[in-house]
Amino acid sequence: MNGPSLDSGTEGIAWDLSDEYPAADAPEVERDLERLDALQDELEEANRVLVPLLEAAETLGLDDGADGIGAARRAFALVEEARRLLSDPGVYASCCLSVDGGDEAALALVGRLQAREKRFAELAEPLSQFLDRVPDRVVEAFLDDATTRDARFAVEHSRKRRHELLDLSEENLVTALGQDGIHAWGRLYDRLAGTLVCEVEVDGEVRTMGVAQAAGLMQRPDDGLRERAWRAINTAWDAHGESCAAAINAIAGWRLEMCRKRSNGRSVHFLDAPLHMNRIVPETLDTLLSVAREARPVARRAALLQARAYRKARYGPWDQRAPAPLGSGGGGAAIPYREALDIVAESYGGVDPGMGAFVRMMAENRWIEGTVGPRKQPGAYCTRFARSRNPRVYMTYTGGASDVITLAHELGHGYHAWVMRDLPDSQRRYGMSIAETASTFGETIVRDALLARAETPQAEFDIVWEEATAAVAFLLNIPARFEFERNFYEARAERPRTPDELKETMREAWTAWYGDSLSEPDPLFWANKLHFYISGLSFYNFPYLFGYLFSLGVHARREALGDAFFPRYEALLRDTGRMTAEDLAAKHLDADLTRADFWRDTVRVLEARIDRFEALVERCVG
Ligand SMILES: [Zn+2]
Repeated sequence: MNGPSLDSGTEGIAWDLSDEYPAADAPEVERDLERLDALQDELEEANRVLVPLLEAAETLGLDDGADGIGAARRAFALVEEARRLLSDPGVYASCCLSVDGGDEAALALVGRLQAREKRFAELAEPLSQFLDRVPDRVVEAFLDDATTRDARFAVEHSRKRRHELLDLSEENLVTALGQDGIHAWGRLYDRLAGTLVCEVEVDGEVRTMGVAQAAGLMQRPDDGLRERAWRAINTAWDAHGESCAAAINAIAGWRLEMCRKRSNGRSVHFLDAPLHMNRIVPETLDTLLSVAREARPVARRAALLQARAYRKARYGPWDQRAPAPLGSGGGGAAIPYREALDIVAESYGGVDPGMGAFVRMMAENRWIEGTVGPRKQPGAYCTRFARSRNPRVYMTYTGGASDVITLAHELGHGYHAWVMRDLPDSQRRYGMSIAETASTFGETIVRDALLARAETPQAEFDIVWEEATAAVAFLLNIPARFEFERNFYEARAERPRTPDELKETMREAWTAWYGDSLSEPDPLFWANKLHFYISGLSFYNFPYLFGYLFSLGVHARREALGDAFFPRYEALLRDTGRMTAEDLAAKHLDADLTRADFWRDTVRVLEARIDRFEALVERCVG
């Protein structure tokens, strides 16, 4: 094998992708692309039957629809297979590019996939239109077959929004105009964010840098530097306040107008689409937010303790990603990669031997990329190949405690994919609200293991610091984003808002959530936060809050259920792609997500963790 031996030291080892493709320009890739093109041609054939039926799909009968049902089943099989063939080369290329951003064969492959992705999106559209538009009895006939039966949840869930559909020609017009409409505003913002520079004083010298680079400075332990970076970023964005206001008003205005147009007899709310996408009902969101509101004292205490650790009275908006101020930031001595794998495998194995075996298998198969390389992209992720269904974990392992936690997090995603690997594709796609369940669970058990082996209070402090950071981020920052966005949409329905009004709405949201814990609000957060400008997605905030509390709630069940926990946990993960979040919780956790109890139990667990943080702050900081 190439590379260093398995136990060479701190650094992680390289992954092996060769069981998927030998190379990005290998004949195997070529064959898959040819096969994909042939499938897309066949799909085009099936669409020749489907498309003419779409005009009057709402009134289609079983007799006149028989050809359509047959074509839809054919299209369904083709779409599922083409998706896999499109996915694997794409995943492979992006894996290669993560390790080496200049990998030319991978870049060429990405380029070759682009046109195919566009064609696929266009060719898959008639089937989804057909399944959303036809009457119930036609859908039942479509699902009454061994090849389509498994897709019931996906099809029925999609049909919950069918009352919003416009005429086919109108839908097509909206999609076409969107490219230079709502999506153009998103692109404008991206261009602005990518080119905007600011001036920050670093080591006594004023430096000009991009706002992303300046944002990186906010992860440094120097409090003054973090504050200067934050002020510099906001000064830069303030100069573009009018442009950002134009973009955010246009994006929200477009969506509000679409809601109005889609209210055919039944009014469509701006939260309907994000709730549907996350597979939760409005009552769940209301309950979640009201429990978060109740939990504000807990999270504010975490913020104030973090400020105290930095020997100041209040938490600043530049402290959101501040590292632990005392130690090395790594929780003491470096942990060799082998040992990290042992820690994760043992913690996972403590839940169930199969989970521990999964970690060992990932390491033995070399499905984890952990090297340190000059051309590697930052960050960590877990991905999976569509046909083999094998996961891959990507990260840069350098031996810090936070690296061990990242490894545990990404392996959690991998485990989630692994327990679903025998399910049909149509039952393996889940919403963002549920996506972090297994990863946060893995993170929590490994963090507890690291705490148990920490030899000094400082090492413990560094680990618990991250928990406090998460509590502040998820229980104060995320709800503030949500509250801003909701209040803004309500006001925008009346008229566009000026930059000053947007600042005021943001200031109010920050104050409502952070309260006295904060030294000052972040009035320009609406301009400097990319999430408000994602044109394909609104309210990219509450799913984080949901995911955080839901996964901690799952973890709390482990203590309550003991040996009975694991089978239920595994069954829950397996059902994530074929149930709403409420059904999932009712079936596997005996919990009603629309009621406060489940969420309150979680907050209580969190409170105990913040108590521990407080004791450590007292011990280490005084
Ligand atoms: Zn994750």
